[in-house]
Amino acid sequence: MRHGERVVGARWVSAAVVPRATTLGVVVVLLGAVALPHGLPVFYAFLATDVLILALFGLSMNLLLGYSGMVSFGHAAYLGVGGYAAGLLALRAELPMAGALVLGAVAAAVAAMLFGAFAVRLSAVYFAMLTLAFQMILHTIVFKWRTVTGGEDGLRGLRPAALVDGPVAYYYFALGVLVVSALVMYVLLNSPFGYTLRAIRENPVRTAHVGVNVRLNRWLVFVVAGFFAGVAGVVLAFSKGSMFPEFVYWTAAADPILVAVLGGMHSFAGPIVGAVFYRVMVYVVGRYTEYWPLVEGALLILVAISMPRGLVGFAQTLWASAGLRSAGRPAPRPLARASARLVAATPSRATGDVLRLVGLRKHFGGVRAVDGVSLTVEAGQIHAIIGPNGAGKSTLFNLLTGHLQADEGEVYFGGKPIGHLPSHAVISRGIARTFQITSILRGLAVYENVLIAVLAHQRRVLDCVTPAKTLGVDQTWQLLELVGLSEQAGQVAGVLSHGDQKRLELAIALANQPTLLLLDEPTAGMAPQERFESVELVRSIARREGLTVLFTEHDMDVVFSAADRITVMHQGRILAEGAPDDIRKDERVQRVYLGGTL
Ligand code: ADP
Ligand code: MG
Repeated sequence: MRHGERVVGARWVSAAVVPRATTLGVVVVLLGAVALPHGLPVFYAFLATDVLILALFGLSMNLLLGYSGMVSFGHAAYLGVGGYAAGLLALRAELPMAGALVLGAVAAAVAAMLFGAFAVRLSAVYFAMLTLAFQMILHTIVFKWRTVTGGEDGLRGLRPAALVDGPVAYYYFALGVLVVSALVMYVLLNSPFGYTLRAIRENPVRTAHVGVNVRLNRWLVFVVAGFFAGVAGVVLAFSKGSMFPEFVYWTAAADPILVAVLGGMHSFAGPIVGAVFYRVMVYVVGRYTEYWPLVEGALLILVAISMPRGLVGFAQTLWASAGLRSAGRPAPRPLARASARLVAATPSRATGDVLRLVGLRKHFGGVRAVDGVSLTVEAGQIHAIIGPNGAGKSTLFNLLTGHLQADEGEVYFGGKPIGHLPSHAVISRGIARTFQITSILRGLAVYENVLIAVLAHQRRVLDCVTPAKTLGVDQTWQLLELVGLSEQAGQVAGVLSHGDQKRLELAIALANQPTLLLLDEPTAGMAPQERFESVELVRSIARREGLTVLFTEHDMDVVFSAADRITVMHQGRILAEGAPDDIRKDERVQRVYLGGTL
């Protein structure tokens, strides 16, 4: 049985990693690129080198923009740091070109490291503003510091190494650099680290709640993107023989964004296609009219409107509609149901108090959302928190997982205080949760949603080399099987029905193999029958795996059928606590919350 599972899973995975048509396409394009300078006037080697540099710059930008969802308006700064650093090292320290290439790129990475440490702390808009500001500062420095950078006259007199001195030879050099860089970026993007970036782009809160340090990952990719922008800058500097302040003027940051969006920022090759299209278009239009920016602008608007997923996305749609390739991934087969089991060897589960809250308080201005809550959750219990809307249940959950910080009080998990920890640290200690408003990675496949959570649990997030889809295969399938979603594994999560999305979120949470599972209204929006099924699923998993479950729920029938213990919250405080029968009889509860209908 298990052997069969692996084969089914692996076949689907290997088919999805690199489709054959793509491999063939890459080979053809590479051969074309190698043949290009032959028989063409030398001028075209210059043009083609420009395209290659822009493609590399665009690829590095797309690590941020397309894969991580980070919009930087100052990416040209790192191109500038790379170019200027290499130029200065070559001219002033007489470093050979190879050394200047490496050190220039490293200088750009260091700049990204220092600056990124501030920038990635900020939300999207402020991140964009700060990146822009850094580039403007850099521009001012290179513009004004004439003695070192040559100011507006530029840093001049760079010569490439003898081996690649000459337009055609340099073109091949630039091609080699692009190919190697692209390969590294490709491997990176298909590794667990790369998948984590996509997850962050889709939903940073969810990603943090599978145990990923979102800020750290953002910072790392910012540094990698800076490094490759630096490489592009060095290749640019030696191709022009000079660096000019306008290369880091704030408008220069638009180029890589433009080519990524134009080509398609959700496909790896997008920026390369975009760079070819953009440079060739500028060249062709420029030959016929001096008003080329007008024509260029109009063309870009046309592309943006008619091809929202860029040129590559457009081509893929054509390709799919011509029946050459199925638009989605191959559907995986369901596996043997009986074999689905979450934890192979269940670690010794906690005993005694799993969770203890002491005097937790959280106010939002005048609203006392959580107002001095003390509560103990015992190991192995299914514990419900009920209370009317606005009672503070979700806020309480948010305090438990570091999504919010308490004004006062402490949270003890397994006897240790966790109230001060960020979400990812709480999760990696063995708590998992679902959200009242379902929180999944909507733009990724169902399989990928669970896979990323599995990889995070396996502490593989920083693996930049291994193809992610070869990892965690068994466990991902088992989780999908457990919640009954293996048939939908290849679908985009965002198109699932509401109930299926809730099930997916449960699988994501369970991937963490938690000691404590927090479910915030797990059956909200479900039909009555579906509610009982979902709760029964959770119950059976919890019993079998020895999980402790704390959940909030509206449906009283569900609560009384599922919970071992019930806590009633009202206006941020605990009104009553006890076994279901006690709560059922409690007069205050009936009066305040249930209106006597119990
Ligand atoms: P429940 O989950 O029990 O319905 P919540 O925890 O969502 O209750 O909300 C408790 C109270 O706190 C409500 O009055 C709500 O409006 C308020 N509240 C929750 N989150 C915030 C927030 N981020 N900012 C301000 N008020 C909030
Ligand atoms: Mg709520």
